[in-house]
Formats: sequence, structure tokens, C-alpha cells
Amino acid sequence: MKFSLYLGKYSGIKVFIHWTFSLLLLWIIISNVRSGTPWIDTGWTIIFVLLIFICVILHEFGHALTAQRYGIQTRDIILLPIGGLARLEKLPEDPKQELKVAIAGPLVNVVLFLLLSIVVSLTGFDLNLLEEAKLNGNSIWLFLASANLFLALFNLLPAFPMDGGRVLRALLSTGMPRIKATEIAGGIGQLMAIAFVFFGLFNNPVLVLIGIFIFLGAQAEVNQTKQSSFLEGYKVGDVLMRKFPILAFDAPLQKAVDKLLEGQAVHFVVVKEDTPIGILSREGIVLGLQQGDRQTPVEKVADQKPLKLEISLPLQDAFKKMTSENKKVALVYEANHFLGILDQENISEFIMVKNALAQ
Ligand SMILES: [Zn+2]
Repeated sequence: MKFSLYLGKYSGIKVFIHWTFSLLLLWIIISNVRSGTPWIDTGWTIIFVLLIFICVILHEFGHALTAQRYGIQTRDIILLPIGGLARLEKLPEDPKQELKVAIAGPLVNVVLFLLLSIVVSLTGFDLNLLEEAKLNGNSIWLFLASANLFLALFNLLPAFPMDGGRVLRALLSTGMPRIKATEIAGGIGQLMAIAFVFFGLFNNPVLVLIGIFIFLGAQAEVNQTKQSSFLEGYKVGDVLMRKFPILAFDAPLQKAVDKLLEGQAVHFVVVKEDTPIGILSREGIVLGLQQGDRQTPVEKVADQKPLKLEISLPLQDAFKKMTSENKKVALVYEANHFLGILDQENISEFIMVKNALAQ
């Protein structure tokens, strides 16, 4: 993850914090200084924000660890000033699993709320603390408990792709095709997003940002689900390309440039003794040229960790893997025997054709 600070990992899931988070802290400090707030109060506010973000990390682990139980890995958890994001490899398609993964995050906040409520009741509950609205060693647990209750409720709003929207999609999917359920949940999500933006304009700029994210996120996921549904029932073998351009591992970069310019090929399989060892893309060639030497062997600039797929893999899974790992081309095998390549562009064409036929 670029521009992010690595915090640590648990259960194989790395946690990063985005650099813009420092802007949030800076904004708190500057606005407090400008309003003449005593430093001690600013300190409490920052401690409070950091504690909330720990709760947000725990919320995201709720999603990630539940997904892990269904064999779905999480690439990482990233913290942004407007919230956290667990980047799951894929989403469970079984409605029951999706429901559990989606609800696990808000449930973590409910548990935190209950635990913090116990702390508050032990330290002496005093409603005046909330009315005073002043953060200090006495009131912080009460504020943190309230914040967790708010986080649970806010995330459960049916604003797809927020957690509540996913719960809604999962519930709808039990009675209708997933694509239809996604369209309905996405529509409701976008309506709520517009409401967030409108309300936020007058009250809270963060809500405007969240609204925009939800609106775009809903759109993207509806499209993705639509595309994926066209691939249903097909396997990697159905779109396999058995003819593809190759380059010897020790060929100079200049040779790749020549081939790129003379034909339509934009990706090359780099081979060594008839075995593919990597993939050289147009981007890789350009990068190699920028670094200077046209005589560099292509092996040096090729992607030496190409994605390898089995020919019998469902096309949907292959497409998701390629997009999530950002690989334009994958090598296709049948029981360790190399057969050909799978090209993202080819899959997109396949989707376009299916889409045209469906209309
Ligand atoms: Zn969540």
C-alpha cells in the first residue's frame, strides 16, 4: 500500500494507516489552537480519536476474521480519516456467509459498547459528563462507549456497500437472483448516499465525503456483479488463448520494443528452455526503457511472479483474482502442463459479447 504506514499484523492480515490520517490530527490541533483550546483538552481529543480508530481496526478485524473462517483471505486493512477498510480477496457469495461477514464488524462495536458500559458503570456513571461535552480522564470511557454504539448503528444503515447494505443484499439474495438483489440494494444505497451528501453539506463535510464514496462504491459493485454474472458457468479454458507472442529470457529489451511496435501484441510470455518464467507487459517495457538500457535482458524487466491459473477454474474466480491482484495476463496450466494465457482484455470482450446477446 503506497503512502501508508505499516502498523503491524494479526492472523496474517497487515494493518496500514493512510498518510491523510495525519491531516486529521493536524486539523484537530490547528482548529483547537485557533479557538484557544487549552493543550490538555487537545491532548484528550487526540487520545479519543486514536482510541476510536483502534475500535475501527477491531471492527474491520470482525469482517476479516469471519471471512477467514470461510477461507477468504484479506489483503490488508487500511485506515483512512473517514473510516477503515478491510480489503477482502473476494466477497462470499453464499448469502448466509455474506450476512455473517457483514454483520461481524458492527457486532464488534456492540461488544465494545457493552464492555465500555461496564467500565463506565464501575467508574461511576454521570450523565452530566455527556452534557458538559468535555473530554477528560473521567468522561472518555462514556464518550467511547457512545461512539461505539454510534459506529454500530451508522454502519448498519442500509447504504450499500456499507455493512447494513450488504446485510440487505444478503437477505434479498435468499429470495431472488444475486444480481437483482445487488441492483436493489445498490439503488437504495445511492439514494441514501445522496441524502448523506445533502445533509452533510449543511452539517458535516465528512458525511459529504462518505456519501460520495458510497455512491461510487455502489455503482462499481453493481457493475462488477453484472459483469461477473455474465461469466457464470464458464471456465478458464473457454477463453484460453493458445497462441501468444513469446520472448526468450535473454533477448534484449530492444527486441521487445520492436515486437511491440510491429504488431498488435502488448504482452509477451518470457520463456527459458520452453518454460514460461514471466510476463512482460507494455508497461514493463516502458518502465525498462525509462531505466535506460535497451540491451537489458527482458528477464530483468518482466513480471517474474506471474499469476498461474488452472484451466478448470471458474472464469468468475479467475477474473476476480486477476483484477484484485492487478494482473492483466495470467498463465494457464493443466496439471503443471503449460497451455496458454488468459488475457483480461479478452475476458472483457467476452463480457461485452454476452452483454450484447443478453439485450
Ligand atoms: Zn464494516
